[in-house]
Amino acid sequence: MPGAELRSVRSHPSPDGIRGMNLGSHDVARFEATDEPELVEASFCCQLCLRRPALVIVGARTHDGHAWCYCAVCHVHTEVALNADQILRLTLAPPRGAPIHLVPAEAL
Ligand SMILES: [Zn+2]
Repeated sequence: MPGAELRSVRSHPSPDGIRGMNLGSHDVARFEATDEPELVEASFCCQLCLRRPALVIVGARTHDGHAWCYCAVCHVHTEVALNADQILRLTLAPPRGAPIHLVPAEAL
């Protein structure tokens, strides 16, 4: 039956294929705790197209953390390392309007 083979391929997506589409990269946040909000948010911009991220999830621990930044245009995520001062800044004074969500690292 024509099309049967295509359907079977669609119903069994390859895990490697999915991961390949979301190839992540790593970076280190470079803002200081006292920097302007624009600089803070710029740390989470997409490395490929430099657009603002669609979503930033910050996994905060006591002394450091990581931010997972997702670009809705490139469909890539960037993992950005954060130090304690940067976590504190994002907790106390997150950039206004930025899609940044802080969660305890244990919750991830
Ligand atoms: Zn992008």
